[in-house]
Amino acid sequence: MPGTLSERPQLQHLTAQLDELKQKGTYFRLRVLDDVQAPVCTYDGKRVINLASNNYLGLTAHPKLREAAIEAIKMYGVGSGAVRTIAGTMKIHMELEEKIARFKNVEACVVFQSGFTANAGTVSSILGKEDFIISDELNHASIIDGARLSRAKIKVFRHKDVSHAEEILKEIASEPGRKLIITDGVFSMDGDIGPVDQLCDLAEKYGAIMMVDDAHASGVLGRNGRGSVDHFGCHGRVDIQVGTLSKAIGALGGYVCGSRDLIDFLYHRARPFLFSTSHPPSVTATCIAAFDLLESEPERIERLWDNTRYFKAELGGMGFDIGGLTTPASETPITPILVGDGKRTMEFSRALFDAGVMATGIAFPTVPEGKARIRTIMTSEHTREQLDQALETLERIARKMGILG
Ligand SMILES: *Cc1c(COP(=O)(O)O)cnc(C)c1O
Repeated sequence: MPGTLSERPQLQHLTAQLDELKQKGTYFRLRVLDDVQAPVCTYDGKRVINLASNNYLGLTAHPKLREAAIEAIKMYGVGSGAVRTIAGTMKIHMELEEKIARFKNVEACVVFQSGFTANAGTVSSILGKEDFIISDELNHASIIDGARLSRAKIKVFRHKDVSHAEEILKEIASEPGRKLIITDGVFSMDGDIGPVDQLCDLAEKYGAIMMVDDAHASGVLGRNGRGSVDHFGCHGRVDIQVGTLSKAIGALGGYVCGSRDLIDFLYHRARPFLFSTSHPPSVTATCIAAFDLLESEPERIERLWDNTRYFKAELGGMGFDIGGLTTPASETPITPILVGDGKRTMEFSRALFDAGVMATGIAFPTVPEGKARIRTIMTSEHTREQLDQALETLERIARKMGILG
């Protein structure tokens, strides 16, 4: 009977916490997409210019990717039937992994169900409690969860502060445990690029393992979207590269690239690999087609960067705080518009939506208290007219609300 569960006292503490969020103004409802993920689409029945998706290259609905998925379903069905280690490794899974390894110029690759499980499953399995994780304070939640699960000692360095990371490494230099330095290639809420090259120097100087999470760099940075390691020319210096198939690649999944032994080890010890079913063949086929497109349609990446430069320049010209003074400036298609107060940010986001622009408000705990922001993401598929219309709306609503003076 509907209704009876919400009358039980067992989960009342959750209701109380939700009430608190409502009071703070940071409670949200899920926006529901009625049609296809695209630069202009319909959420909750309203047509909006979409500045919120991670669909950087417009691949989520690309005809070649759709076709690949449909073909795979016809050939292999809709599910893999088991976890990879029992009976759920299909030829197509191996094919994708080999393709990614070649693309990234590494020995081997393993695909996980998501970028989240790739990070959490890797960090948690390769270290133990006598070891150390030296982690940027803005690293993604999946790295933090993996670090906690590993039971290693977690040392957090100030955002992109390489000398702080070195201080930590010096302090623990005489400790017997292994050290892992880990950074996002592109930070997901600020859009700035991690100092991968300088952290590689540190890793080499102190004998630490080097790991990069390239979720927002995959398909965006480097030649044909090869990621931050390629962007910095750090091939052969990063022991573990994580990427996602869920953002620019347009489908779902995460991958880990590295040495053959690293990947073999993950087969044996990474818990999401061992205990959760592998991708359906359609998802895998989609990803294979996406990597082909990165090579055959590099103009998508060029358009993405053209749009990014244009949008940033216009926003900055209007007087928006898009980082630079209060945070390191974004250097990528992720452009945060700093507002500060959480409640005001959410109001701004709602007003933008009503005016036809979908731009997500992000507040505590996703970003620090007082650093609430509207997060915009550019894609290669936005037209200049769409961008101009979005910019005009952003400026008009911000002036009306006093966010712009
Ligand atoms: C999105 C994201 C992930 C998770 O990737 P999914 O494939 O969506 O699970 C991991 N790390 C970073 C930095 C991300 O932004």
